[in-house]
Amino acid sequence: MADIPFDQRDGFIWFNGELVPWADAKVHVLTHGLHYASCVFEGERVYGGEIFKLREHTERLFYSAETLGFEIPYTIAEIDEACRKAVAAQNIVDGYVRPFAWRGSEMMGVSAQNNKINVAVASWEWPSYFDPEERKKGIRVDMAEYRRPSPETIPCHAKAAGLYMICTLSKHAAEKKGYADALMLDYRGLVAEMTGANVFFIKDDVLHTPTPDCFLDGITRRTVMDLARKRGYEIVERQIKPGELTDFSECFITGSAAEVTAVSEIGPYKFRPSDITFNLMADYTAEVQPKVSTA
Ligand code: PMP
Repeated sequence: MADIPFDQRDGFIWFNGELVPWADAKVHVLTHGLHYASCVFEGERVYGGEIFKLREHTERLFYSAETLGFEIPYTIAEIDEACRKAVAAQNIVDGYVRPFAWRGSEMMGVSAQNNKINVAVASWEWPSYFDPEERKKGIRVDMAEYRRPSPETIPCHAKAAGLYMICTLSKHAAEKKGYADALMLDYRGLVAEMTGANVFFIKDDVLHTPTPDCFLDGITRRTVMDLARKRGYEIVERQIKPGELTDFSECFITGSAAEVTAVSEIGPYKFRPSDITFNLMADYTAEVQPKVSTA
C-alpha cells in the first residue's frame, strides 16, 4: 500500500456528503484552493478503530475555515460522522484521517466570493511518521532557514494549506542533508516549532515549551502537557531563544502524526532522550487507546 500513489488507491472517500469510489474523488485543475491556497485541513490518528480527539480536530477545522473567511456547509456533528464513515469504509484500525475543505472553481482570481465550499475526508493506514527505532533513539533535526511568520502577516493559528509552503521547503532542505525534520524559528528569531509538530525541551526535570503565539497550539501538545501535569512535572511555557538549546538535556516533539518523538540533535545542539521523554511517550501511547466502556 505504501508505494501506491495516493490518487490510485482503492476504497472510498467521503466527498461533499457521500462516500465515492477513491478514484472518483477528483477536483478540476481550475480549483481556487489549488491556486490560492484557500484550503484548510486536519490530521487525525485512528487507534483501534477510534479517532483520537475527533471533536477537537473537527472544531479546529471549522475555526480554520472561519479564519479563512468561509463557512463549511455541514455541522460539526456531520463532519465527525463523515470522518467515522471514511475510517469505516477503509476498515482502518490504526491509521490516519485527513478532513479538508476548500474553495471551488466558480471564480478564478484572488476574489472568490461566490465559490462553493467543498469538503472531503480520506483515511488510510499509517503506522509511524518517523522510523519507530529513531523515535526512541531520537530523530536528528536541522535548523530551518524559513521562519514562522508574524500573526500580522498570515492567520497563523489556522491549519491552512498556505502556511505549509515553507514547511515543505524546510523539510525538503533538511532531508537532503540527511535530517528527519527541521526546527523553525519565528519572525523574532525565537524557537517556534517543527515543520509539522510542536517542540518541548527538558532541563533539571522541568519542561520548557515555546508560547504558541504565532504557530499552532497543537492538540497533542495540550494532551502531553496534561499528561505531564498528571505526573507532577513542572511545565514552563515561555519565549525560548535558540542559544538556550545548549542548556537542555532532553528534547521531544509532539503532533497527531508525530505522536511523542524524541530528538537527539538539532543542528549543533545535542540531547539524550531519558526518563521524562520515555514516560511521556508511554503515557501518550496509553492515552490514545480507545476507551473501553465499563457501563
Ligand atoms: N504544528 C504544525 C505546523 C503542524 O502541522 C502540526 C500537526 N497538525 C502541529 C504543530 C501539531 O498539531 P496537533 O498536535 O494538533 O496535530
